[in-house]
Amino acid sequence: MTGRDGAVTGTPPAQPDGAPSRSAAVLAAAHGTPGFLDQREGMALFAAAEVAAQRGLGPLVEIGAYLGRSTLFLAAGLIAALEHGAPPSILLSIDHHRGSEEMQAGWEHHDATLVDPATGRMDSLPRFRANLWRAGAEDIVAAVVGDSARVAAALSGPVGMVFIDGGHGANVAWADYRGWTPRLAPGGLLAIHDVFPDPADGGRPPYECYCAALDSGEFDELEDARTLSLRVLTRRRVPRAPQRASR
Ligand code: MG
Repeated sequence: MTGRDGAVTGTPPAQPDGAPSRSAAVLAAAHGTPGFLDQREGMALFAAAEVAAQRGLGPLVEIGAYLGRSTLFLAAGLIAALEHGAPPSILLSIDHHRGSEEMQAGWEHHDATLVDPATGRMDSLPRFRANLWRAGAEDIVAAVVGDSARVAAALSGPVGMVFIDGGHGANVAWADYRGWTPRLAPGGLLAIHDVFPDPADGGRPPYECYCAALDSGEFDELEDARTLSLRVLTRRRVPRAPQRASR
Protein backbone atom coordinates (compact mmCIF):
# COMPACT_ATOMS: atom_id res chain seq x y z
CA MET A 1 0.00 0.00 0.00
CA THR A 2 1.23 3.49 -0.70
CA GLY A 3 0.65 6.71 1.18
CA ARG A 4 -0.32 10.15 -0.04
CA ASP A 5 3.18 10.96 -1.21
CA GLY A 6 3.67 7.57 -2.80
CA ALA A 7 5.88 6.29 0.00
CA VAL A 8 5.48 2.65 0.87
CA THR A 9 3.83 2.43 4.25
CA GLY A 10 3.11 -0.18 6.84
CA THR A 11 6.61 -0.57 8.29
CA PRO A 12 7.20 1.22 11.57
CA PRO A 13 10.52 3.06 11.56
CA ALA A 14 13.24 2.34 14.12
CA GLN A 15 14.67 5.15 16.17
CA PRO A 16 18.15 6.42 15.28
CA ASP A 17 19.55 4.52 18.27
CA GLY A 18 18.03 1.29 17.01
CA ALA A 19 15.29 1.21 19.66
CA PRO A 20 11.85 0.31 18.33
CA SER A 21 9.66 3.26 17.48
CA ARG A 22 6.51 3.95 19.46
CA SER A 23 4.39 2.66 16.60
CA ALA A 24 6.35 -0.60 16.61
CA ALA A 25 5.81 -0.96 20.36
CA VAL A 26 2.06 -0.41 20.02
CA LEU A 27 2.00 -2.81 17.08
CA ALA A 28 3.69 -5.46 19.20
CA ALA A 29 1.08 -4.88 21.90
CA ALA A 30 -1.67 -5.29 19.30
CA HIS A 31 -0.31 -8.66 18.26
CA GLY A 32 -0.40 -9.77 21.90
CA THR A 33 -3.96 -8.60 22.56
CA PRO A 34 -6.73 -11.21 22.38
CA GLY A 35 -9.50 -10.79 19.87
CA PHE A 36 -11.05 -12.05 16.65
CA LEU A 37 -8.90 -10.18 14.14
CA ASP A 38 -6.35 -12.36 12.36
CA GLN A 39 -2.87 -10.88 12.55
CA ARG A 40 -2.76 -10.52 8.74
CA GLU A 41 -5.99 -8.54 8.91
CA GLY A 42 -4.48 -6.54 11.74
CA MET A 43 -1.48 -5.60 9.60
CA ALA A 44 -3.76 -4.55 6.74
CA LEU A 45 -5.72 -2.42 9.18
CA PHE A 46 -2.49 -0.93 10.52
CA ALA A 47 -1.43 0.04 6.99
CA ALA A 48 -4.86 1.48 6.18
CA ALA A 49 -4.89 3.57 9.36
CA GLU A 50 -1.49 4.96 8.51
CA VAL A 51 -2.66 5.97 5.04
CA ALA A 52 -5.86 7.51 6.40
CA ALA A 53 -4.01 9.48 9.07
CA GLN A 54 -1.46 10.71 6.51
CA ARG A 55 -4.31 12.16 4.48
CA GLY A 56 -5.30 14.34 7.44
CA LEU A 57 -9.04 14.27 6.74
CA GLY A 58 -10.32 13.92 10.28
CA PRO A 59 -10.32 11.49 13.20
CA LEU A 60 -10.28 7.76 12.65
CA VAL A 61 -13.34 5.90 13.93
CA GLU A 62 -13.61 2.30 15.07
CA ILE A 63 -16.95 0.65 15.75
CA GLY A 64 -16.55 -2.44 17.88
CA ALA A 65 -13.49 -2.59 20.09
CA TYR A 66 -14.00 -5.53 22.49
CA LEU A 67 -10.62 -5.95 24.24
CA GLY A 68 -8.76 -3.48 22.03
CA ARG A 69 -6.94 -5.74 19.55
CA SER A 70 -8.11 -3.91 16.42
CA THR A 71 -7.94 -0.65 18.37
CA LEU A 72 -4.22 -1.11 18.88
CA PHE A 73 -3.54 -2.05 15.24
CA LEU A 74 -5.35 1.14 14.20
CA ALA A 75 -3.60 3.21 16.88
CA ALA A 76 -0.20 1.88 15.76
CA GLY A 77 -0.97 2.95 12.19
CA LEU A 78 -2.03 6.39 13.35
CA ILE A 79 1.12 6.74 15.42
CA ALA A 80 3.25 5.59 12.45
CA ALA A 81 1.68 8.38 10.39
CA LEU A 82 2.47 10.89 13.14
CA GLU A 83 6.06 9.64 13.13
CA HIS A 84 6.13 10.48 9.41
CA GLY A 85 4.82 14.00 10.00
CA ALA A 86 1.06 13.56 9.65
CA PRO A 87 -1.17 16.21 11.29
CA PRO A 88 -2.39 15.43 14.84
CA SER A 89 -5.36 13.11 15.02
CA ILE A 90 -7.06 10.62 17.29
CA LEU A 91 -8.82 7.30 17.05
CA LEU A 92 -12.40 7.38 18.30
CA SER A 93 -13.16 3.86 19.53
CA ILE A 94 -16.89 3.26 19.94
CA ASP A 95 -18.32 0.24 21.73
CA HIS A 96 -21.07 -0.28 24.29
CA HIS A 97 -18.77 -2.92 25.78
CA ARG A 98 -21.71 -5.18 26.56
CA GLY A 99 -20.62 -7.70 23.92
CA SER A 100 -22.25 -8.52 20.61
CA GLU A 101 -24.79 -11.29 20.14
CA GLU A 102 -22.30 -14.13 19.78
CA MET A 103 -20.48 -13.08 22.96
CA GLN A 104 -23.46 -13.50 25.27
CA ALA A 105 -23.81 -16.44 27.67
CA GLY A 106 -24.48 -19.69 25.85
CA TRP A 107 -23.04 -18.43 22.56
CA GLU A 108 -19.88 -19.49 20.77
CA HIS A 109 -17.60 -16.61 21.75
CA HIS A 110 -18.74 -16.09 25.33
CA ASP A 111 -16.00 -15.37 27.87
CA ALA A 112 -17.42 -15.81 31.36
CA THR A 113 -14.53 -13.85 32.89
CA LEU A 114 -15.95 -10.73 31.22
CA VAL A 115 -19.25 -10.88 33.07
CA ASP A 116 -19.59 -8.10 35.64
CA PRO A 117 -20.91 -9.77 38.81
CA ALA A 118 -22.61 -6.54 39.88
CA THR A 119 -24.82 -6.42 36.80
CA GLY A 120 -24.62 -9.96 35.44
CA ARG A 121 -23.84 -8.45 32.05
CA MET A 122 -20.79 -8.51 29.83
CA ASP A 123 -18.36 -5.68 30.41
CA SER A 124 -15.24 -5.61 28.24
CA LEU A 125 -14.37 -2.02 29.16
CA PRO A 126 -12.03 -2.73 32.11
CA ARG A 127 -9.85 -5.08 30.09
CA PHE A 128 -10.02 -2.79 27.05
CA ARG A 129 -8.70 0.07 29.20
CA ALA A 130 -6.03 -2.11 30.76
CA ASN A 131 -4.83 -3.22 27.32
CA LEU A 132 -4.66 0.37 26.08
CA TRP A 133 -2.79 1.46 29.17
CA ARG A 134 -0.31 -1.41 28.91
CA ALA A 135 0.31 -0.52 25.26
CA GLY A 136 0.84 3.16 26.11
CA ALA A 137 -1.87 4.20 23.69
CA GLU A 138 -4.32 6.04 25.95
CA ASP A 139 -3.45 9.45 24.55
CA ILE A 140 -4.13 8.42 20.95
CA VAL A 141 -7.43 6.58 21.56
CA ALA A 142 -10.60 8.28 22.79
CA ALA A 143 -12.98 5.58 23.99
CA VAL A 144 -16.67 6.28 23.57
CA VAL A 145 -18.94 3.88 25.48
CA GLY A 146 -22.30 3.81 23.79
CA ASP A 147 -24.34 2.96 20.74
CA SER A 148 -22.45 3.88 17.57
CA ALA A 149 -25.42 5.17 15.58
CA ARG A 150 -26.45 7.45 18.45
CA VAL A 151 -22.89 8.71 18.73
CA ALA A 152 -22.81 9.37 14.98
CA ALA A 153 -26.04 11.35 15.21
CA ALA A 154 -24.69 13.45 18.08
CA LEU A 155 -21.28 14.32 16.63
CA SER A 156 -20.58 16.44 13.60
CA GLY A 157 -17.71 16.86 11.19
CA PRO A 158 -15.97 14.67 8.64
CA VAL A 159 -13.89 11.64 9.56
CA GLY A 160 -10.85 10.18 7.83
CA MET A 161 -11.53 6.49 8.36
CA VAL A 162 -14.34 4.26 9.57
CA PHE A 163 -13.71 0.66 10.60
CA ILE A 164 -16.94 -1.28 11.03
CA ASP A 165 -16.56 -4.34 13.25
CA GLY A 166 -19.54 -4.13 15.60
CA GLY A 167 -22.52 -6.43 15.89
CA HIS A 168 -23.29 -8.67 12.94
CA GLY A 169 -27.08 -8.61 13.20
CA ALA A 170 -28.73 -6.83 10.29
CA ASN A 171 -30.17 -3.96 12.33
CA VAL A 172 -26.90 -3.23 14.12
CA ALA A 173 -24.61 -3.61 11.10
CA TRP A 174 -26.76 -1.40 8.88
CA ALA A 175 -27.12 1.22 11.62
CA ASP A 176 -23.32 1.35 11.88
CA TYR A 177 -22.97 1.61 8.12
CA ARG A 178 -25.70 4.20 7.62
CA GLY A 179 -24.66 6.21 10.64
CA TRP A 180 -21.01 6.57 9.77
CA THR A 181 -20.29 6.17 6.06
CA PRO A 182 -21.91 9.51 5.13
CA ARG A 183 -19.40 11.13 7.48
CA LEU A 184 -16.37 9.92 5.55
CA ALA A 185 -14.50 12.72 3.83
CA PRO A 186 -13.63 12.22 0.16
CA GLY A 187 -10.41 10.24 0.19
CA GLY A 188 -11.34 8.69 3.55
CA LEU A 189 -11.16 4.95 4.08
CA LEU A 190 -13.99 2.55 4.91
CA ALA A 191 -12.87 -0.78 6.36
CA ILE A 192 -15.30 -3.58 7.10
CA HIS A 193 -14.51 -6.80 8.94
CA ASP A 194 -16.23 -10.17 8.59
CA VAL A 195 -17.07 -9.75 4.92
CA PHE A 196 -17.95 -13.25 3.75
CA PRO A 197 -19.00 -13.60 0.10
CA ASP A 198 -19.83 -17.25 0.78
CA PRO A 199 -22.71 -17.55 3.27
CA ALA A 200 -21.19 -20.80 4.50
CA ASP A 201 -18.32 -18.77 6.00
CA GLY A 202 -20.35 -16.31 8.08
CA GLY A 203 -23.26 -13.92 8.42
CA ARG A 204 -24.47 -11.67 5.60
CA PRO A 205 -24.87 -8.12 6.93
CA PRO A 206 -21.19 -7.05 6.76
CA TYR A 207 -20.97 -8.44 3.21
CA GLU A 208 -24.20 -6.68 2.25
CA CYS A 209 -22.89 -3.37 3.62
CA TYR A 210 -19.70 -3.85 1.60
CA CYS A 211 -21.75 -4.53 -1.55
CA ALA A 212 -23.91 -1.49 -0.86
CA ALA A 213 -20.82 0.70 -0.61
CA LEU A 214 -19.49 -0.55 -3.95
CA ASP A 215 -22.89 -0.35 -5.62
CA SER A 216 -23.41 3.23 -4.43
CA GLY A 217 -20.75 4.49 -6.81
CA GLU A 218 -19.18 6.42 -3.93
CA PHE A 219 -16.40 3.97 -3.10
CA ASP A 220 -13.58 2.08 -4.78
CA GLU A 221 -12.04 -0.95 -3.18
CA LEU A 222 -8.32 -0.98 -2.37
CA GLU A 223 -7.75 -4.41 -3.81
CA ASP A 224 -4.26 -4.81 -2.38
CA ALA A 225 -5.65 -4.33 1.14
CA ARG A 226 -8.07 -7.26 0.80
CA THR A 227 -7.10 -9.68 3.56
CA LEU A 228 -9.17 -12.68 4.65
CA SER A 229 -12.52 -11.14 5.67
CA LEU A 230 -11.25 -7.54 5.80
CA ARG A 231 -12.14 -5.14 2.99
CA VAL A 232 -10.91 -1.56 2.64
CA LEU A 233 -12.55 0.98 0.37
CA THR A 234 -11.79 4.61 -0.34
CA ARG A 235 -14.41 7.30 -0.73
CA ARG A 236 -14.29 8.76 -4.22
CA ARG A 237 -13.92 12.48 -4.65
CA VAL A 238 -16.39 12.32 -7.54
CA PRO A 239 -19.02 9.54 -7.38
CA ARG A 240 -19.37 7.39 -10.48
CA ALA A 241 -22.72 6.30 -11.79
CA PRO A 242 -24.13 3.58 -9.53
CA GLN A 243 -23.48 0.17 -10.99
CA ARG A 244 -23.19 -3.41 -9.95
CA ALA A 245 -19.48 -3.74 -9.20
CA SER A 246 -17.58 -6.92 -9.93
CA ARG A 247 -16.23 -8.71 -6.91
MG1 MG B 1 -14.98 -8.85 13.47
